[in-house]
Amino acid sequence: MTVITRFAPSPTGLLHIGNVRTALICYLIARKNGGKFMLRLDDTDTERSKEEYAEIIKENLTWLGLEWDIIARQSERLERYEEVKQKLIADGRMYPCYESAEDLDMKRKVLIGRGLPPIYDRAALDLSDDVKQKLEADGTTPHWRFKLDETSTIQWNDLIKGPTRFEAKNLSDPVLIRANGAPTYMLPSTIDDIDFDISHVVRGEDHVSNTAIQIQIFEAIGGKVPEFAHHSLMKSKGGKISKREGGFDVGAIRDNGIEAMAINSFLARLGTSDPIEPRLNLDEIVDNFDLSRFTKGSAIYDFIELERMNPKILHIFSYTDVKNREEMQDIDEEFFNSVQPNLTHLSEIQEWHQICKDELAPVIDDADFTASASKLLPEGEWDENTWGEWINKVKEATGKKGKELFMPIRKALTARDNGPELKHILPLIGSAKTTARLNGQKA
Ligand code: GLU
Repeated sequence: MTVITRFAPSPTGLLHIGNVRTALICYLIARKNGGKFMLRLDDTDTERSKEEYAEIIKENLTWLGLEWDIIARQSERLERYEEVKQKLIADGRMYPCYESAEDLDMKRKVLIGRGLPPIYDRAALDLSDDVKQKLEADGTTPHWRFKLDETSTIQWNDLIKGPTRFEAKNLSDPVLIRANGAPTYMLPSTIDDIDFDISHVVRGEDHVSNTAIQIQIFEAIGGKVPEFAHHSLMKSKGGKISKREGGFDVGAIRDNGIEAMAINSFLARLGTSDPIEPRLNLDEIVDNFDLSRFTKGSAIYDFIELERMNPKILHIFSYTDVKNREEMQDIDEEFFNSVQPNLTHLSEIQEWHQICKDELAPVIDDADFTASASKLLPEGEWDENTWGEWINKVKEATGKKGKELFMPIRKALTARDNGPELKHILPLIGSAKTTARLNGQKA
């Protein structure tokens, strides 16, 4: 059996970090098993689906490295859905209903008021052909429901939740076709899972009862029922996540300087019994991925934890991993290696480049001290040993040590009180600028 998974977003909004988790898990299952990963755009809701959202979803997935092998759009497969609809009607598994939204709402309220579950009463099944014809002649177009086999127990072995069962009599016959003729999510999703040979349907646990219904639809159509896995939903730790943190939209999180591999590393382990660890690329995540490690408990999303992953990722990158990035303009390997241990966001490398290479107004705490230190600067080519040689001389000559020794020099050279190790950045600043800055001159 070829493993084929699918990520099936509806392009009705930006890509939520919780959906990225679903996409990633689907991607990892496919890659782990040498299978295929499909992107399916569930865009049958023509009012809410927008082309720009479809583009953003594709762009975000590409940025994350979650490349799909197959892509399909439901809006291009309407004929196929119509064909299956006709088959299900002919087989007596779909029936027309004429209640308005208000009628249904009223029925629901009455049942809830009596303490009963709001299950559709199948009143439409009792309508005679004459009544139906009259309703249609009067301008009521029907919506269509799937007729569940109410006598059966539906069960499957969920790959995350374990054995799961539903009594069909506790479920409402779902609406598959709206009164305007458009299919709801239920039918196209099942048809596509059959037609694209999806082996594993992996999605959030909010779909568990849909799965029970869809299993009966799979059987009614005559398709093979795939494996199912329902992961717990992601919850945010402190309630709402602020705009500054990028909210839940992955594009905004990226714009806040969070690395794709920080997101992938974090999400691949969120809600599992394994520790969250930085991974250099998706292949490494695939190697260490095991669906059975996902737990039923809710997955807590804490932006601070994701943010903490960012420097860990940046610190394991090699120059080649990042050299073509926009943030790396004018940065050579030596510069990257020197500043890398101090980066929490890659864009900061440009600030350090400016500090080392552009004109800077030094911050002078002790003018006599920094000026006399400048007189001891070594001649000739500077390298990583220059700092050690020089600072020992300064220490001997001035008797200063520790913070008293380093801090005035750091502030004179960089105008900051923290940053990369001075032994790394001294050669990058170079002798002319170092001398001038130690003497309080802009350079
Ligand atoms: N479009 C559905 C959603 O975003 C897909 C659910 C599924 O994976 O079947 O919830």
